[in-house]
Amino acid sequence: MTQQWQNWARTERVTPRQVRTPRTTSELSTIVTEAARDGLRVRAIGSGHSFTGVAVAPDVQVRPDAMDGLIAVDRATGLVTVQAGIPLHRLNPLLAEHGLAMEVLGDIDRQTIAGAISTGTHGSGERFGSISTQVRALELVTADGSVLTCSATENPELFTAARVSLGTLGIIATVTLQCVPLYALHAVDEPRPIDDVLDEIDDLVAANDHYEFFWFPHTETALTRRYTRLPGDVELRPWNRVSRFVDDRLVTNIGFEALLRVGTRRPSLIPGITRFVTKAVGSRDIVDLAPNVYASARNVRFRESEYAVPRAHLVEALRELKSWLDKHGEPVSFPFEVRFSRADDIWLSPAHDRDVAYVAFHQYHRLPHQRWFGICEQVLGEAGGRPHWGKLHSLGAEELRQRYPRFDDFVRLRDALDPAGRFGNDHLDRVLGPAPASR
Ligand SMILES: Cc1cc2nc3c(=O)[nH]c(=O)nc-3n(C[C@H](O)[C@H](O)[C@H](O)COP(=O)(O)OP(=O)(O)OC[C@H]3O[C@@H](n4cnc5c(N)ncnc54)[C@H](O)[C@@H]3O)c2cc1C
Repeated sequence: MTQQWQNWARTERVTPRQVRTPRTTSELSTIVTEAARDGLRVRAIGSGHSFTGVAVAPDVQVRPDAMDGLIAVDRATGLVTVQAGIPLHRLNPLLAEHGLAMEVLGDIDRQTIAGAISTGTHGSGERFGSISTQVRALELVTADGSVLTCSATENPELFTAARVSLGTLGIIATVTLQCVPLYALHAVDEPRPIDDVLDEIDDLVAANDHYEFFWFPHTETALTRRYTRLPGDVELRPWNRVSRFVDDRLVTNIGFEALLRVGTRRPSLIPGITRFVTKAVGSRDIVDLAPNVYASARNVRFRESEYAVPRAHLVEALRELKSWLDKHGEPVSFPFEVRFSRADDIWLSPAHDRDVAYVAFHQYHRLPHQRWFGICEQVLGEAGGRPHWGKLHSLGAEELRQRYPRFDDFVRLRDALDPAGRFGNDHLDRVLGPAPASR
């Protein structure tokens, strides 16, 4: 009997027919071959931090736990090869031991490296791409059990597609990353009027290595966050444990959860709660090693969606959402999070061929999110937005095809590699269309 699996957000649940925990590429290959023989679908999962059904594995669920080794490190070039199931919070200290670090990270470190790249996980900074852009080679077990490697020079088309591929081209066994020398970040968090931030946004983004802001609906204040990159041997001034505890656990997590429970019973209190929380979250001015700065704890469960819009359309779209909220008073309990990324060439990357602003919108998990998310999807969609593959959205293959110029190339490659839909599930049928065998 297998146990029920659920994702972090508790939006997806499944009891797989089989759970497998391979240790090597060759064991992975055997699992895929056996699944093909038995007519079962097979999917690898990461840490279950996607909000959508992208990781759901109803038949054979391949768990990452035992594929978490460091395979090779070249300090001189910064190239590092790891097994695909290693979580980022274990990878970061291993890299630091070798004087290396990931070029940029998102705001948590719970994901596995394969899970993170498969949906295009990103951080913020107009000179930086998503984690997928840091990949230099992949080893995949494809639907017939064979092992394929790809890089810019070996199977280059597969490489361009596989770096954001939702687990549909094969199960990733190893990942080679281009790392950088270990660095520190000078992090300054401070509140600013949202109108000022929107007026100055291009200058703010250009003037900082990493710039992002959180804006709580029902308030006029943005909590801005800017990071400057510094050498790894700079004198550190980390957040002391008490401050981190007070902010991470009491103010932004435990205290926030308590207030949101009250707000769930009386939604009319939500605007007051978000104004209070905006004031309560403190400023911060620290210098610490990069992995300690990027990642924060997320203990309050929420629902999230996120669209990548062309940079030029950000301000107008946010102002439109602000005026909709002012007019309708929808009780939205979580902030927008706005981040920036440079264009890349990956076929299913939301930043494919254009510099983007990522606009994430959230709602506490006990409050209804459908109406609010629907409005955001409409406004950000009209602004040319593409949804994050790991976050909630309502689009299907026909709509996504309009937004991704290389969508059909991706589906053609998937159909050639996996005509039987061995790596499929219902969610993937919706967003990419069914595999040839089920058409
Ligand atoms: C609290 C929270 C904070 C987040 N912060 C950010 C953020 O800052 N930036 C951002 O962009 N996103 C963020 N996300 C989204 C998250 O990074 C992505 O959804 C990511 O894909 C989750 O990784 P995972 O390891 O949990 O993978 P899962 O969600 O388990 O799986 C994701 C996909 O990867 C595939 N996959 C996993 N392993 C393999 C493998 N070995 N081979 C092939 N396919 C594989 C799965 O099949 C699935 O399609 C956040 C999510 C949460 C819940």
